[in-house]
Amino acid sequence: MAYKYKHVIMAGIDGAGVFFHKAKTPLIRSMFEKGAGADPALTVFPTESAQCWCTMLTGIMPEEHGLTMDNIGEIEYKGKAEHPDIFALIRKAHPEAKLASFAHWSPINTGIVDDGIGVVKDTGKDDYLMERACAYVKAELPEFLFIHFDSVDDHGHGYGYGSEKYLAQLDLVDGYTARVFEAAAEAGIADDTLFIVTTDHGGINGSHGGWSDEEKYVFFVMTGKTVRKCAIPEMNVREIPAIIAYALGIPGVADADGKDPGRLFTE
Ligand SMILES: [Zn+2]
Repeated sequence: MAYKYKHVIMAGIDGAGVFFHKAKTPLIRSMFEKGAGADPALTVFPTESAQCWCTMLTGIMPEEHGLTMDNIGEIEYKGKAEHPDIFALIRKAHPEAKLASFAHWSPINTGIVDDGIGVVKDTGKDDYLMERACAYVKAELPEFLFIHFDSVDDHGHGYGYGSEKYLAQLDLVDGYTARVFEAAAEAGIADDTLFIVTTDHGGINGSHGGWSDEEKYVFFVMTGKTVRKCAIPEMNVREIPAIIAYALGIPGVADADGKDPGRLFTE
C-alpha cells in the first residue's frame, strides 16, 4: 500500500523553461538535490500557455483538449467528461477536500479548472497570490493547492527570456514559492505534503509558441518524504496529473504517458 500524502502544493512558474540554470533559484536547486526532478522535461506543442497548462492539469494533449489562446475561457475543453482536470478528480474521490487554484493568468481558472466543485479560485499579481496562498495554506491545510506565477513570462516577453531582468524575476518568484512552501511548514503539514515546482514552456527572442529547445524544454521537480531521489528520464508534462493523483492515493488515474508514477516514490 503506497504512502498517501495528505497535501500537494504545486507552483507553476509560467515561461520559466530551464532558465533556472542561469539564475540563482535556491529553492529549485535545493529541490533538485533532494527530490525527483526532470531536467529537462518536455512540454507540449505549441508552447503556448493555454495548450500547455490544460495538458498539465488534465493529462490530455492539445490536439485532444482543443484549448488555444483564442478560445480559452470561452469554451470547455474537449473530453472533459472522460478526462476531468486534476481538481475534479480529487473532488470526486474526496468530497470534503479543500482545493484552491490561485492563478495570475486567470484563463487557467476560467477555462480549465472546473467550476461548481468548490475549488477556491483567485487571481492577481504574483506577490498578492503568494500572500494569499500562504494565508490559505495556514488557515485551510488544503489537500491540493495550485499557485500560478506569471511575472517571469511577462519579463521574458518584455526583456527577453534569459535576460538579466528575467533571471532576477525568476529568482524573486523562486523566493515567493519558498514562502508558500514555508507556510506549509509553519502550519505543521510539511511532513505530509508533496511539493512540486514546474513550468509550462520557455521562450526565445521575447516570445514562445515554437519548438526550439529554449521553448520546449521545461523542468519538473518534486520533494516529499517518500519521493525517490532521482533524475526523471524522458518526462512529459502530461504525466503531472497522474503523479499528483498517485501521491494522494486516488485510484484509477492512468498516466497519460503510460508510465507508473510509483517509480518516483520509495513507498
Ligand atoms: Zn505560459
